[in-house]
Amino acid sequence: MKRVEVHPGREAIVEFDPGLTFECVDDCTWCCQHGVLLYEEDFANLADYADLAETTTSFRGEEFVRREGKDREEHVDEDGAACYFLRDDGLCALHAEHGWKPTRCSIFPLAVRKRDGDLRVDVRESAREHCEGLDVSERRLIDNLEAFLPELLWELDDPDTRREL
Ligand code: SF4
Ligand code: SF4
Repeated sequence: MKRVEVHPGREAIVEFDPGLTFECVDDCTWCCQHGVLLYEEDFANLADYADLAETTTSFRGEEFVRREGKDREEHVDEDGAACYFLRDDGLCALHAEHGWKPTRCSIFPLAVRKRDGDLRVDVRESAREHCEGLDVSERRLIDNLEAFLPELLWELDDPDTRREL
């Protein structure tokens, strides 16, 4: 485990191998084929871009971007569904059209949780199995944590990303 300053005065405890590298693979889209946890601030921001009643769903007291069945064979999970915002071309409609995406989407393939007041960061179990971008480049995750971990995470009582639809 290693303590890293991610933003000025904001430290995280890194639980993954410091040598691990990551570069997202074009056309993979695996992490966009699922429902997406929305923190309260994300939920409020999403209202600027989309109809919340149509695009989100509540589950166990949390808000999520919902999945929907897609009329296509690519960029879908085995059940033919994907994140509401994943377009036919494999791009995120929110990011492509508004330059914004939910915090959970920035964090992937990492997982965060708080323990004893510390923000702890590891690689998501599902990413170890499915993410094609791990260990395929020279870009070490530990050197680029600010790109994955927005400062908002330090302000949340419970940022745990293991909550899934
Ligand atoms: S909101 Fe965008 S980036 Fe996040 S899972 Fe959906 S399509 Fe992917
Ligand atoms: S699963 Fe990994 S490689 Fe695939 S789109 Fe997501 S971050 Fe990129």
